[in-house]
Amino acid sequence: VSATVGAVAAVDIGGTTTRAAVAVGDELRGRVAVPTRPGKGLADAVAETVRAALAASGLARGEIDALGVSVPGPLDAKRRSVAFTGNVGLRHYALAERLETALELPVTMDDDANCAALGEVRRGAAMGAGVAVLVVVGTGIGGGIVIDGRLYRGAHAIAGEVGHIVLEPDGPPCSCGHRGCFEALAAGPALAARGRTAARDGRSPALIERAGGSMKAIDTAAVLEAAQAGDHGALEAVAATGRYLGLGVAAVASMLDPDVIVLSGGLGGTPDMLEWARRGVRDHCISPLDSLVRVVNGSLGDDAGLWGAALLALGSKEVA
Ligand SMILES: [Zn+2]
Repeated sequence: VSATVGAVAAVDIGGTTTRAAVAVGDELRGRVAVPTRPGKGLADAVAETVRAALAASGLARGEIDALGVSVPGPLDAKRRSVAFTGNVGLRHYALAERLETALELPVTMDDDANCAALGEVRRGAAMGAGVAVLVVVGTGIGGGIVIDGRLYRGAHAIAGEVGHIVLEPDGPPCSCGHRGCFEALAAGPALAARGRTAARDGRSPALIERAGGSMKAIDTAAVLEAAQAGDHGALEAVAATGRYLGLGVAAVASMLDPDVIVLSGGLGGTPDMLEWARRGVRDHCISPLDSLVRVVNGSLGDDAGLWGAALLALGSKEVA
């Protein structure tokens, strides 16, 4: 088998960083990372980054058959346009068509959580799982469902939006406009808010010191750090956040009966949160689900989205 059989380009457009690479067999080559350029010039900037990855990969332009793209937000139902991307700030932007024109390659796109889910199932921590769910916990909570190696997108292409499962109808407001969503209760900003409350109430000496008069200095990392050092208020904040994480993960497990739930992201990837998620499944799922569902951290890191995008591109070739 020639090394260049099935070579595809992949690009992962993040809120702040855009990564690109070429997938050849089980390898990513020519990785490139640049700051994401927001606004209408996005497609040209992405095309430029893909060309840089092609050049760095050592493969000839003619050896690349397709491009897969991971985008940081929901797509239109046909997955050709970016309907909305929070940080990049575009609506109804025909990204796939623009990239196809610029690069003369067929383009397949999906959102970042779906791409990362596909990557972790086909190349990472959930390799070989029949039913797997990725839960990404960072500044928000995203999800992706992979069944028999393929993304499950649902009837309206919205499946896997686990961050908006409501856990507390009277809870804090969520970015989606509802209240008490999993995301509003268990993502990074919720942990940071609990840390600030603990500091204000005088329950957290470490966080009061960290704040130094400015509550903004108390971010997710500061609360995790203070908890590691044994600070009482920070430990309470982590426990409250972890309990909600466990509830959300248990809801996902009860709905889908997965082989494995992959927990990743800035907060989800921490050992504390992995333990809370496992405890949630044990405490809230019915028997025997409570002991059957494995919960693990992702293993691909920043490469998860790239791999997912590459696999999308490979899949589109198979269909064609
Ligand atoms: Zn919500």
